[in-house]
Amino acid sequence: MFFQRTVSRRVWAEGVGIHSGNPSRVTVLPASPGTGLVFVRSDLESKVEVPADVHHVVDSRLATTLGRDGVTIGTVEHLLAALYGLGIDNARIEVDGPEVPILDGSAEPFVRMILSGGGTVAQRSRPKRFFVVKKTVRITDGDRSVALRPHDCFAIDFSIDFPHPVVGKQRCEFVLSDRSFLHEVSRARTFGFAREVAALKAAGFARGGSLDNAVVIDDFCVQNPDGLRYPDEFVRHKVLDALGDLSLLGAPIIGRFEAVRAGHALTAALLHKLLATPRAYEIREFRQRAELDVAKIRLPELAALRVPARA
Ligand SMILES: [Zn+2]
Repeated sequence: MFFQRTVSRRVWAEGVGIHSGNPSRVTVLPASPGTGLVFVRSDLESKVEVPADVHHVVDSRLATTLGRDGVTIGTVEHLLAALYGLGIDNARIEVDGPEVPILDGSAEPFVRMILSGGGTVAQRSRPKRFFVVKKTVRITDGDRSVALRPHDCFAIDFSIDFPHPVVGKQRCEFVLSDRSFLHEVSRARTFGFAREVAALKAAGFARGGSLDNAVVIDDFCVQNPDGLRYPDEFVRHKVLDALGDLSLLGAPIIGRFEAVRAGHALTAALLHKLLATPRAYEIREFRQRAELDVAKIRLPELAALRVPARA
């Protein structure tokens, strides 16, 4: 049987918030079976618990922000993608500011933080629950669309089309397995266009953004001295974002997510539509021959992932 999982011990990381520019520390602690993923602002007197579910999404512009009773935590999606990729169901996540630190702009530092802190532990008192898509649900907005359809495993098919010679049209078909997240997606960094940076900063975004935590593209090429980590790092990061946002269903998905030029807001809208369509899904527990054991992934394997991929 698949069991629920949590982190084996308290782990933490420090950095800056990409949008706020403020220093920030995130601490991930073990939590009991059935807790889910719960954010808490440790810098505030009020210890309001903000569940990582789509009902608590309060802002989807450029990043996903969760909130409850006036307490908000921004840019949660990369950390949530790491937790999803490692199969973690339950954790208490403390953030000492309004935004999860961006670290290097990917999910890899969060994966490294958890694996170097002892990895994950199965909670054998509680079977894992899965969110099984039974009927296709779709949202279209002009030339952008998202859909979740029935499938025999969890897959993401993401297409982007940016009118820029470095990015252009890219498509990534990703099938989640116990290793594929680490190898294919976890290291893909967020990205932005240099000519948009000033306007973003003026609007209160990207104030902590730099070449250390984002791929920056000018009118001709990638500005980061070491280039790209994957030739198609841009669409892979969109897959990473989608994983984090889809985790807001509260259970790992058995289904296929298809996205064309989509972002956080469209994905959140799709999850609301799915949850409002009871015949389109069911929550199930599975009995299997062997349990996925991502806790057995070791750090040397992570080190081996460092494939230079200058495009
Ligand atoms: Zn992102």
